[in-house]
Amino acid sequence: MTVNELYRFCCDELSFTDCGDFEALCLFNDLLNKSKNDIYFKNDIVFENEISVIKAAIKKRKSGEPLQYILGKWDFYDLTFKVGEGVLIPRPETELLVDFALEKIKNIASPVIFDLCAGTGCIGLTIASHCKNAEVYLLEKEEKAAFYLEENIKSLKLTSAHLIKDDIFTVSKEKFPSADILISNPPYISSDEISSLQREVLFEPTSALDGGSDGLDFYRCIASKWTDTVKSGGFIALECGENQSNDIIELFKGKFKENNVIFDFNNVDRIVTFRI
Ligand code: GLN
Repeated sequence: MTVNELYRFCCDELSFTDCGDFEALCLFNDLLNKSKNDIYFKNDIVFENEISVIKAAIKKRKSGEPLQYILGKWDFYDLTFKVGEGVLIPRPETELLVDFALEKIKNIASPVIFDLCAGTGCIGLTIASHCKNAEVYLLEKEEKAAFYLEENIKSLKLTSAHLIKDDIFTVSKEKFPSADILISNPPYISSDEISSLQREVLFEPTSALDGGSDGLDFYRCIASKWTDTVKSGGFIALECGENQSNDIIELFKGKFKENNVIFDFNNVDRIVTFRI
């Protein structure tokens, strides 16, 4: 069997997904180290173990496991993050949070950044990678997620990024300097909606998705406990779910000077920002 024949078989097997050919290409690139040229223009014969690798990946994918977990990595902004079971997969809309933060810190000599509920660290670590003079504190309480975060700090070689394995509800804030910007993409799905999520999303940790009975528990905590850790004139920027922005602004009432809502590429209210 040639590489191209195995590729076509894989595309066929993955045609139940939204973009089977794309997924097959990702598997061939990342798991077999086969380039587009290898797949389309050469006529190499595949090894038995390469067939087994692809068949095992197809089996996992058919069981609903997300492509990103099977690959063990995923791109976010201009970096690649290690991912796997137990950590939320970085999403493209979260890149808006990075754009906002980089714009706000560009004229600050040594900005201090907090990333709460950091997961893989995709937000805080991307900021650290683009702003070498920033000190970034990333809080994550879940063991498995913190493992990936540590791996990502190491592989991206970001010495100004500090993982704090702690819970944003209970951590004592005395250990932090005050922040120029606090960002977070916290869990924001209401508990009773969790079971109706897409099969792939249910493979992701519930602790990264479940925001309590109305989905707003983490915003409540940030409004009441974290606002005073941000310098006057600094910013808070929070990702949220569709139609949550007004309720979140209400929770921060009296604690900010200005606010704004950023809409994503699907025209969903996705980021709420506050100037403190
Ligand atoms: N901050 C991480 C991300 O955006 C994790 C978010 C979470 O676990 N809710 O991917």
